[in-house]
Amino acid sequence: METKVWKVDPQFPDPKVIAKAAEVIRRGGLIAFPTETVYGLGANALDENAVLKIFAAKERPPWDPLIVHIFDLTMLEHLVDEPPENFHKLAELFMPGPLTVVMWKKAKVPDAVTAGLPTVAVRMPNHPVALVLIEASGVPIAAPSANKFGRPSPTTAEHVLHDLAGRIDGILDAGPTQVGVESTVLDLTKIPPVILRPGGVGKEALEKVLGEVLVATKILEVETGLPSPGMMPRHYAPSVPVILTDGNPSELAAAIEVLKSQGYDPNQIGVLMPSGWLAGIEGVVTFDWGSWGNWDELAQKLFVGIRWLEMQKISAIVAPLPPPIGLGLAIRDRLTKAATPKDEFSSESKKSNCKCQGKTL
Ligand code: AMP
Ligand code: MG
Repeated sequence: METKVWKVDPQFPDPKVIAKAAEVIRRGGLIAFPTETVYGLGANALDENAVLKIFAAKERPPWDPLIVHIFDLTMLEHLVDEPPENFHKLAELFMPGPLTVVMWKKAKVPDAVTAGLPTVAVRMPNHPVALVLIEASGVPIAAPSANKFGRPSPTTAEHVLHDLAGRIDGILDAGPTQVGVESTVLDLTKIPPVILRPGGVGKEALEKVLGEVLVATKILEVETGLPSPGMMPRHYAPSVPVILTDGNPSELAAAIEVLKSQGYDPNQIGVLMPSGWLAGIEGVVTFDWGSWGNWDELAQKLFVGIRWLEMQKISAIVAPLPPPIGLGLAIRDRLTKAATPKDEFSSESKKSNCKCQGKTL
């Protein structure tokens, strides 16, 4: 199929264009659209056949549930019977915003959306284009990130086209997204609540409202059997191995030296380089990541940097790990998952012959 690209103003999208995209959603088609976190791939959340098309386009396994996007709180009536008490406090502070809340679902929410789970994940995106699209469609929109399954999330329309051109009906292109990493997924069916995926809203901010909040680990995943893509060991991964170092210039320089000593040409080594670090270093391909300490900026440029580097014909990406502060927690999560060796995830890695695949040096 031909994928239509509609350029829209991020603040004041043309209502005629939005009406066309909304019509596609209502007819059961797929539209990629910007949110403040990353681009989403949307379908009518109440139409099971439409939702199944998302899984086909992304090559996403059916056990991997989707986030449902709403325009306002009245849309919740389609999705949950009674939101838990804490929900309204969170909604007041973080909706619209990069927070997804997992709650007990209504029976009419299709199983395809929730991967058969008794819960549904709900978010109100803070982006004018996303909001008017949902409003004009008149239905909640199920939308995972608009990338092929397992790939880094898309923060521009070009990223979406790279992965999904010809597989979806259209894309609303409103330029790069702001937050750059996905929403925080918070499970409110648990006491205390559990962060299933760190993201755009920090743990500290949630704890101010909720008191104690836990962060899910692989152990919890095993205990609960949660089929949560954000919790899979390898995810957000580029096509080359990612090597992580402690968050300081000397560790980063040492990791680059190790790669050189293993026979890598400097021009095969891509680096997510914080501004001003290793200024004199020669030969390696650097992406100017932003100011170390400004975790918001680094989050915004994380997937852009990874996707840019992998286009530069490099053989490995090296990156320093931020501390788990604010959005630093989400960046650590994404980088760690991107660096997980493929053979810890599946047997497809047997194809690779890299010497230091995904190792943390
Ligand atoms: P994506 O939108 O592709 O970034 O992925 C959707 C995220 O929402 C994943 O991390 C899922 O695990 C999470 N999610 C969606 N629905 C549920 C649910 N019912 N329970 C737990 N996590 C969910
Ligand atoms: Mg995703």
